[in-house]
Formats: sequence, C-alpha cells, structure tokens
Amino acid sequence: MVILGGIALCFVAFFALDFMYPFPEHKLHPATATVVYDRDHNPLRIFLPPDGARRMHTDISTVSPVLIQSLIASEDGWFEYHPGINPFSAIRAAVSNIRAGHVISGASTIPMQIARMAEPKRRTLLAKLKESFRAVQLKWHHSNDELLEIYLNMLPYGGNIEGVAAASHFYFGHDPSTLSLAQSALLTTMPRGPATYDPVRHPKQAERGRNLVMEQLEERGVFPSAEVERNKKVPLPTRTRRVPLKAPHFSRMVLERTGPAPTIETTIDYRLQQIAEERLKNHISLLRNDDIDNGACVIIHIPTREIRALVGSADYFEKGYGGAINLAETKRSPGSTLKPFLYALAMDKGLMAPASYLYDIPVDYSGYSPENYDQTWSGQVEMREALARSLNVPAVKTLAQTTVPSFVDLLRKGGLSTLEKNPMEYGLPLALGGCEVKLTELTNLYACLADSGRYRPYKIRPSENEISSQLLSPEASWITLQMLSKVSRPEMNETWMLTNDMPETGWKTGTSFGHRDAWAIGISGEYAIGVWVGNPDGRPRKGISGAVHAGPLLFDLLRAASPGGKLPAQPDGSGISEVKVCAHSHQLPGSFCTDRITMQTLSGKTQFKPCEYCRQIFVDPKSGFRLSGECLDRKKLDKKIVRTLPAQLARWRAENSMEVPILPPLSPDCDLIPAGNAPRIISPASSTPYLLRKGTPLKFQQISLRANAEADSGTLHWFLDGRLVNKGKFDQKLFAEIKAGKHKISVTDSFGRTDSVLFEVRGGD
Ligand SMILES: [Zn+2]
Repeated sequence: MVILGGIALCFVAFFALDFMYPFPEHKLHPATATVVYDRDHNPLRIFLPPDGARRMHTDISTVSPVLIQSLIASEDGWFEYHPGINPFSAIRAAVSNIRAGHVISGASTIPMQIARMAEPKRRTLLAKLKESFRAVQLKWHHSNDELLEIYLNMLPYGGNIEGVAAASHFYFGHDPSTLSLAQSALLTTMPRGPATYDPVRHPKQAERGRNLVMEQLEERGVFPSAEVERNKKVPLPTRTRRVPLKAPHFSRMVLERTGPAPTIETTIDYRLQQIAEERLKNHISLLRNDDIDNGACVIIHIPTREIRALVGSADYFEKGYGGAINLAETKRSPGSTLKPFLYALAMDKGLMAPASYLYDIPVDYSGYSPENYDQTWSGQVEMREALARSLNVPAVKTLAQTTVPSFVDLLRKGGLSTLEKNPMEYGLPLALGGCEVKLTELTNLYACLADSGRYRPYKIRPSENEISSQLLSPEASWITLQMLSKVSRPEMNETWMLTNDMPETGWKTGTSFGHRDAWAIGISGEYAIGVWVGNPDGRPRKGISGAVHAGPLLFDLLRAASPGGKLPAQPDGSGISEVKVCAHSHQLPGSFCTDRITMQTLSGKTQFKPCEYCRQIFVDPKSGFRLSGECLDRKKLDKKIVRTLPAQLARWRAENSMEVPILPPLSPDCDLIPAGNAPRIISPASSTPYLLRKGTPLKFQQISLRANAEADSGTLHWFLDGRLVNKGKFDQKLFAEIKAGKHKISVTDSFGRTDSVLFEVRGGD
C-alpha cells in the first residue's frame, strides 16, 4: 500500500509540476538555415538563421540509419524503453568510467541531453534533478522519433555548427543520408566535446574518440569487426567547407519569394549557371571600356519554363557597379523587343500577314511623330521587313490598328507584371517600348513563341503549379518566330552568324530611348535566352545598341546551351495557307490586277481589301487625254490599265523626289468632276486643339496645310472660314497664319473636288 501510494504520489507530483512548468518547446526548434539547392540537389546557397549558427534542419527519415544506430547504442541503449531517465545506465556508466579511469560515457539519457541543450545549466545536483524532470516531461509529450529528430538537429559540432545535417555538410560535403560508419562514429563522439574532438584542430584526439566509439559498437555486436576495421582506416576530414554562395542573385530571389524553409529545391542547372556567370563577367569586362557598367542574363528551358540559369550582374560581390542588384529583375525600358508580339497580335486579328505592305513614311498622331532609329524612311515595306529592320512607324501604325488596350492586355496575359498603368497612359509609344519590363518576364514571353503561343509562368522551383493559357495562335507564333530567324543586322559582326555551330535562332534586339538599355532575346532548341546590358545607375551611354552590345553574349550563350538547336516545325493542320494576291498591292486581286503572287496567310483569319492600285481608265485615242463622266458616252475611247499608289504614299514619294505614277491629264472637253478621290485634309486636324504660345508672333506659329490628293489634282486652293489663304500643288509645303478661335478650313482641287475640317485654336497659357 505504501509503495503504491508512493508511486501514485509521484505521478500526481509529476503532473502537477508538468502543468506548472511546461517544457519551453520553442527551445527545441531554433531557427534553422535555409538551404537553396540546384536541380541536382547540390546546395547553391545557405542562408544562416539570424543568430548566425550553421544550423540546418533534417527530418529523421533522411538521416543515415548507421548514425542513428551509432548514437543510440553509444548514448542511450534503452532510449526506446525508459521513461526519460534510466537508473541502470547511470550505474553502468559510473562503473565503466571507474574501470577505464576516465570518462568515456555520460550517464545522461538522450532526453536528458536534449533538456540540457535546451536549457544549459551548471552541473549541480539540483540541476541534474531538474534535468531528469525535464527528460521525463519530454518523453511523456513526444514520440521516440520526434525526440530523436530533435536530438539529431541539436547536437553541437564545434564552431557554430549545430545538428547532424550541418555537420555532414560542413565536414563531409553531403547530406546526412549517406553517412558511413566512420563518419557516423565521428559525429557520435564529437558532441561529447566539440572542442576536444575537433577533427581539424585535434585530429589525433578526434580519431581516437571516433575509433573508440566504433570499438564499443563492435563489442556490443552492433557492427561486424571487419567493417569496423575498414572504417578505422578512413581518414578524418581536414577542413570544414565554406558556406556556399553560388547563383547568389537567384538564390536570394528564391528566398524572398518562398520565405525561409529548411530546404528549397530549385530549377538551376549549375553547369549552365556557371557558363552564364563566366561569359557575362567576361563580356561586361570588355563593355566597361565602353562606358557600359553591367548586365544580366537568364536562360529558360522552354518545355518546362524552368529558369535554368540567372545571373543578376557581372559580379555579385563587387562593390560599386550595382553588383548586388539583381538586374534580371529590375524594371527597364524594353526598346523594340515588344514589336514581335505586336505583329503577332495583328496577324491573329486578321489585320495583316508577313508580306502585307505597311507604310514607313512620316505620320503625326496628334503631335506624336515617331521616327526611325536611323532617321530615314523606307516608304512601302512588307511587314516582315518592318519587323526584321525594326522600323518604328509601321509598328506605331500597327499598334493604332490593333489598339493599345488589346496590346496591353496581351502583354499582361503574357506575364509582364510591370505594365501597371492604364493602357491609355501608355498610348502609341508603347509600340516602341514606352513602358518598363523585367528581363525574366520578357524572356519568358519570348518562350511563348516557341511553345505554340502558350503562356506559362516561368518557374524557379520544380514543384510549382502549372497553369497555361493560349496567348497567341500557334500559327501566328510560328510565323513570328520564322520572321525573327531572318533578322540580320549589319552592325552585328558577320562571323557571329556564319560559324558552323550556330544554332537556328529566332532573335530580336532592342535599344531604349535615351540610350539606357540594350537587349537581345533569342530562341533556339529548348531554350529562350535573354540578355540585358546597361548602367544600373540609369546613366545613358550614347550609341548603346542591342545588336552591338548585347547580341554577341546572346549568341555565345545560345551556342553553349543549345548547340545545333533548331526552331520549332510548322504547326500541323491547315492553319497556314498560301493565297494569290496582286503583285503590286499585295491585296485581293481584281479584274485589272494582271500580276499575281502567292502570299502566306492565316487561314480564315487574314482579311484582304480589294486592290486599290490597279485601275482601268479611258483615254482619247487621238489626244491621249483621259476621259470621264459624260465624255464616256460621247467619245470613241481606248481602255488602259494603270497602276496608282495610295494618296499618302504618292504624296511622300513626290515630296522626296521619287517617281509617282501620273495619270494622263483629263480631257479639257470633260468639264464634269471626274471620278476618283477628292483631296483629304490631314493638317490641320480636327481631333486636337492647337495651342498658341504666348509672346510669340503669329507669323512664327503658322499651321501646316496638308492634304492627301491624287497626283492629277492640280492646284489645291485653301480657304479659311471662306477666305482664300494659300494655294499650291499637293506636295508643296503650305502654311497659314491662324488666330485663336474655332475655324473651318476647306481645300478644293482643280476639278472642284473639296474637303473641309472644323478645328480649334486656343490661346496659350
Ligand atoms: Zn492590283
């Protein structure tokens, strides 16, 4: 009764104490390092916890059973069975210590050791009693496996290395899952005296301690003699490894996105990463002689959209030059790199096909007059040429047709997270890169072109969810990539393009306004690669060029990542078809279009207009004069097929002394207004009010009078509010002085065909 009563009392006392003094559980789980791994599970970077300890977490399931056996057998053989304290082991330890003449085994159980590590105390009898209570508490509240895991993660290994995972990494360079017997024995002996058994500083003591552990395990029959003998010959580690700092920008980006976690597996292919780091560094060291400070590159594996390499600057550790900034994630101005997506969108909307004619002539969109990079004009060009030569006006006109909101929508759906403004705030300059993008997102957008037009977000961890959406049709994507493969730039050294191992590549360069950014993005085989160079401090560098300054690095990387790479094959099915068009207008041929060519189109999408170039006129066989109106009934006449040009193109050609088709003059007998087009006023424009600057005489603020008119329109007479103000040929530069107020301007050609426009002039502020 007394014994039972005593036991019951003990239980009551334990639960009372357990209730009053709960175990400080948080001390069992101190903050651990975040280890970022590459795709082959090699650590790229270890972010230490705030206290700076080299403490890495491991699950018990990923610790070598050899180490667990070794630790349990050496430290606490009855661990699984006792309630936290083990009086027998205390007695045995005392006996064996006396026999050996020195301490070879502590009397503490594993739970007691955990309690001591969690709350270190001086070794007094009272402390030992508290420790025993804590040990029972731990055993009561935790399973054996939980306690073992806590123990494995807390063991001290000298310096600031804590836990078996960190010890395995820093002493042996691998995970704790593959520890050998010799390694396990060393990790068993070290926590008993981390300074004494430090294998680097005191190799003899460490070896003795390690071998003693193995001998004891052999004696107890845990491991066979032969294995112990073999492992005793294994040399000790001679150094501790440094904290790895590979792919530093990428690793930090991953940590910032996912938050701290014991292990983060990523998509980095360390072979490619090293190549990219080395090539970028070399490339930038050359550019620095040229006042370009830094750059970034990213390599995306198209089928998985995994980032396989990301280099955020030439040297992460460099002071100055913005070395620590991840320039692959910095918002920069994209220059011409968005144009391919604009033309792809226009093709999907049916507005054009690669051989459609676009006009590269001066335009004015309410005061916005884009110019080309080289300040020349090309007149009429095919869309594919406009893209290959990166002409600006055709791109702006194409954006005006597709509309800004729908292009912004496409870019946002394509993953450009930085287009945060209202579409109308971007306006037409968006076609030329009037916005900001990140290299990572831009490169991934290009990957869509090689992935049947599908958008999928890029991945930095293999486990991330797959979402995908159809951004562009497979046909428009394929055609666009084909067009980009035809790009050749005179400023690129020819040797880049002609080398034997040059993979098939679709690529585009870009140079931002203000000479701040140079881009080159390319696709080949399974990889999309993006390169940016410029000055991180935003300092412009006059004459910076995507082709000259970013292009060579792009091709270097393409060759390394994708040797012999090919571009995707034409999509299956009948989405792309050849259509017969007029050879002069590239539009739908009419009965007067005698020359025809075939043109690649998107089946069922590409819309055509009837040809406006080829016309039939009637001429007087005697005089050669053109006949029209009522004359056609009276006279004997000849039919003649002629080719004209659209009025705006004819006007530009005439202004630049280029040949313009002129129709035979109208017969003086025909005084009726001929068929054909009336002039159309293009300036002044009704859409925007004109502002007069205060303090400047009106004669210096004249407004240009311009109209698109037929080449045979003769003299144009200009009337302001009914009063003649100027006259001249359609290609002459004419002006008028106009006061503030609302006005009507009219123009009449020599056949009496007229046009008029209402517009407003406001006094300046
Ligand atoms: Zn035609």
